[in-house]
Amino acid sequence: MKIAVFDDYRLGVVGDGSIRDISSLVDRPWRGHPLAVNRLIERWDDVREEAARQSAAAVIKPLPEVRLRAPVPQPRQLLAAPLNYHQHISEMASSPHVPGGLPPEQTSRELGFFVKASGSICGPSDAIELPRWSGRVFHHECELGVVIGRTARAVSRQRAREHVFGYVCLIDVTMRMNREFQEERPMRKSFETFTPIGPWIVTADEVPNPDSLGIRLWVNGELRQDGSTAQMIVGVDELIASASSVVTLHPGDLYATGTPAGVGPIGPGDQVSVCVDKVGEFTIPVRQRDW
Ligand code: MN
Repeated sequence: MKIAVFDDYRLGVVGDGSIRDISSLVDRPWRGHPLAVNRLIERWDDVREEAARQSAAAVIKPLPEVRLRAPVPQPRQLLAAPLNYHQHISEMASSPHVPGGLPPEQTSRELGFFVKASGSICGPSDAIELPRWSGRVFHHECELGVVIGRTARAVSRQRAREHVFGYVCLIDVTMRMNREFQEERPMRKSFETFTPIGPWIVTADEVPNPDSLGIRLWVNGELRQDGSTAQMIVGVDELIASASSVVTLHPGDLYATGTPAGVGPIGPGDQVSVCVDKVGEFTIPVRQRDW
């Protein structure tokens, strides 16, 4: 099933180019609230059959007539894997944006996760807004995003997948360092709109193997990143198991699983497209922030 958040934080099931409203599946205080989808995910075991039933009958709107929002507008936690693809590690190791070089032999397995501000999330109908920080370069990173389903604390790799609700396309926008400025990674990646996600959540039952999905990103129609999650150093199960030994993961939490090679600059006026096999694709404009 494809679960979307649209218009005034309504919940929908997407199919055949249209969207069916299933907002009534969450209790009234949450209906139309940015946290409605978190509540839906939390209750999913109880409501999934009803969701399927309603999706056949509920109000239908053509997709172009709705405003798709971030499919999880407010996860409690937004975790991200650093250096999870060997070819990306190689390109960063020789990049002018890593002054002093990378520590040897360090990957997501050794480094664990970092945290992005969840306020950096935006949706497929929004825009990436670059702040006016002089002399800085902003890069795109296309990633598979994992949405947590069931509460996960100290889960094993073998049982990690039971705690996944589904998957999204994700862009981890990053302000790169240079010799002069070396702010910490969490802030460089946390500017508002620096985590576009979408276009919807594809539920885990439709993605039997998240570790073998093609993942691509274009800037103005030019292919810049063309990888596969099969190249991830730490796969989805291990990422979840490891993180859940540090902190409890909650329904609706989001994990950005790292980017393949090919990261590069974006600027105002660009159109960035991201596609993950079996999940979907969206295109988002880049502009200068006006505040
Ligand atoms: Mn990243």
